[in-house]
Amino acid sequence: MAKYTGPVCRLCRREGTKLFLKGNRCYTQKCPIEKRPYPPGEHGQRRKKVSEYGAQLREKQKARRLYGLMENQFHRYFLKAEKQKGVTGDNLLQFLERRLDNTIYRLGLASSRREARQLVRHGHFTVNGRKVNIPSYLVREGDAIAVREKSKESPRFQELAEEAATRRVPDWLEVDLENMTGRVVRLPEREDIDVPIEEHLIVELYSR
Ligand code: SF4
Repeated sequence: MAKYTGPVCRLCRREGTKLFLKGNRCYTQKCPIEKRPYPPGEHGQRRKKVSEYGAQLREKQKARRLYGLMENQFHRYFLKAEKQKGVTGDNLLQFLERRLDNTIYRLGLASSRREARQLVRHGHFTVNGRKVNIPSYLVREGDAIAVREKSKESPRFQELAEEAATRRVPDWLEVDLENMTGRVVRLPEREDIDVPIEEHLIVELYSR
C-alpha cells in the first residue's frame, strides 16, 4: 500500500493545526508549528481568500493526513460511510477511529498513529488472541487487544507503557498498562472523537 514518505511537519503547517504525526516531539517546543504557524513554502505567509471548495478540500486533506491515509483509502471509507445508516460524517469518523492503528494509538500503546501502524505491521499485537498485522483492521465492540508476549519485554514497549500512564484514554476504550492490553468497551460516538475536523465539509466535497 502506497504511503506518504515526505516531511510530516510540513503537513501540519499546511493544514494549520497539529496533526500529532511525530509522537513525543509534537508535545514539545521543537514542534515547528509553534515557531512557524503558517503554511510552508515561499508564499506561505501570504493571506489568501479561501473559496468554499478550498475549505472543503482542506478539511478532507486534514482528516486524511491525520489518520495517515492515501486518497483512495480515504474515499473508500467515505463510500462505506455513505452506505451505512445514520449521519455520513459521523459514520466516516467512526470508521477512521475504529482502525486498529488508531485504536492502538488511542490506547497509548504507540506514540503516534504512524508508529502504531508500523508496530501493527511488524506483528506486535493480537486481537482476541490472534495475531493481526493489518493496520486497517476495524475493531468491534468487545474486542480484546494485547501486545504479544514476546514483544512486551522490548525496551520500546516498556517506554511506551511509562509514557501512556500520562495520557488520557477515550471512554470507548479501556487499557491495562501493566499487562499491556486494551478492550473496546463500545464503538466510538462523535463526541468521543476529539479531532479538529468539520466532517460536514468533507461530505459536501464528495457530494459535489
Ligand atoms: Fe505536527 Fe508533530 Fe511536527 Fe508539530 S512536531 S508539526 S504536531 S508532526
